[in-house]
Amino acid sequence: MRVVVVGAGLAGLTAAAALASGGADVTVLEARDRVGGRIRGVEVAPGSWVDAGAAYLGERHTGLLALIEEYGLKTAPTELVGDSRFALGAAADGTRPGRFPPLNAVALGGMFDLLDELTAAVRVDAPWLTPDAARLDTLTAADWAERHLTHPDARLFFPLFLGEMMAADPAEVSVLHMAFYLRSGGGVRYLNAFEGGAQQDRVAGGAHLLCERIAERLGDRVRLSAPVRAVHQDPAGVTVHSAGGSVRADAAVLALPPLIADAIEHRPALAAPRSSTRTARGCAVKVQLVYPEPYWRAHGLSGWSVNAEGPLLSTVDDSPPDGGAGVLTGFVTGAEAHRFAALTPERQRAEAVAQAGRLFPQLPPPLACHVTDWVNEEYSRGCYAALLGPGDWTELGPRLAVPHGRVHWAGTETGTEFFGLMEGAVRSGRRVAAELLAPSSARP
Ligand SMILES: Cc1cc2nc3c(=O)[nH]c(=O)nc-3n(C[C@H](O)[C@H](O)[C@H](O)COP(=O)(O)OP(=O)(O)OC[C@H]3O[C@@H](n4cnc5c(N)ncnc54)[C@H](O)[C@@H]3O)c2cc1C
Repeated sequence: MRVVVVGAGLAGLTAAAALASGGADVTVLEARDRVGGRIRGVEVAPGSWVDAGAAYLGERHTGLLALIEEYGLKTAPTELVGDSRFALGAAADGTRPGRFPPLNAVALGGMFDLLDELTAAVRVDAPWLTPDAARLDTLTAADWAERHLTHPDARLFFPLFLGEMMAADPAEVSVLHMAFYLRSGGGVRYLNAFEGGAQQDRVAGGAHLLCERIAERLGDRVRLSAPVRAVHQDPAGVTVHSAGGSVRADAAVLALPPLIADAIEHRPALAAPRSSTRTARGCAVKVQLVYPEPYWRAHGLSGWSVNAEGPLLSTVDDSPPDGGAGVLTGFVTGAEAHRFAALTPERQRAEAVAQAGRLFPQLPPPLACHVTDWVNEEYSRGCYAALLGPGDWTELGPRLAVPHGRVHWAGTETGTEFFGLMEGAVRSGRRVAAELLAPSSARP
């Protein structure tokens, strides 16, 4: 069986590797001049890399961990030793142990209880079948906060929490999607935790190494700089047209974010779109400030901070475990990401450096400042993942993983487990390969 995989992100690469080892004749067409998609490395010192895209993983990410092992890579724990810094308005007391913000603990506890209640009720395998799905899918997370969060500290913290977890502006995401996303990722506490949680580890050397190694093993099956424009099916097969030429196959796997899959010309036309006018781009800009060493550690600080004012709404110590540099990674998320992304590079750097200096006054000027704007990446259209807006789950959800004739779907947005995460991408790649390798699957 000949299969064309469109997209060499983690989902497409996982699918291609599984299909190739199942005996399929695979070609991977990738738009960019690199593999990895939303996973990308930045070299911060000679031979020292950090993640400009996806970084963190936890023990429940079993598919990803198995791949890391299979390709001879290791994980490294996320460093979080020392006090945190907080700049959260009048309630802030600056520096304190642990990650719990200096806000009203009862109000934040109540907010997490409400989120737990909401996530527990969602049907993770089929969110559109959740009791009360229709109502939950008409409200935005901002509407939900307005109705349920009465304490000012909970109202202050909620958008910061959602920005960090989902790179979402609460005004853009439906309550059903928020509840589904949190449940799909293992629940509020698992997603939010370092030790024992979804942010416990990183791939040593950078997550991009995993994609590069999978691609190396696939060899010349992977064609870079080949953006796909059209997918045409006929009774005998499928032809995928890219800037690098056309490829004929028995089946195609589109391992793409939904907003991108909809921009491709499909013949016959898709029975239903994969996104709507309410589907939003996840909004994240990652800023990496590079220093000769992680100075904050000598001052008893972990590098972790949470801030009501941008651009860096949170920061984390991302220094490579090889000791090559001290790296403070800042996350600019939600509505703030749109403002920051529109600034000139000089202004972005000035704002980020000034804020880091206020948070960690012992810092010298950085050696480098890397800004990765995922909001405007042509071949990602938002990150960490697409944000399903009001109505999307009930209208689009039931079809997101259903094949369209010879076209099968992969990508983190097609999974109901670990949606939006690397683990979701891996599981979707495995699922689609199994779908195609099952007897007579390429014949619709
Ligand atoms: C800043 C940031 C932080 C993140 N943090 C984490 C984290 O800590 N942990 C975690 O688990 N996840 C995280 N994620 C999410 C994670 O990166 C994604 O869930 C995962 O990488 C998605 O993989 P994918 O293969 O589904 O999609 P993608 O990586 O988007 O792959 C799609 C591929 O298709 C290609 N493509 C697009 N259009 C075309 C076309 N027309 N023709 C051919 N190819 C095309 C793209 O170039 C890309 O390579 C983060 C993402 C970002 C950006």
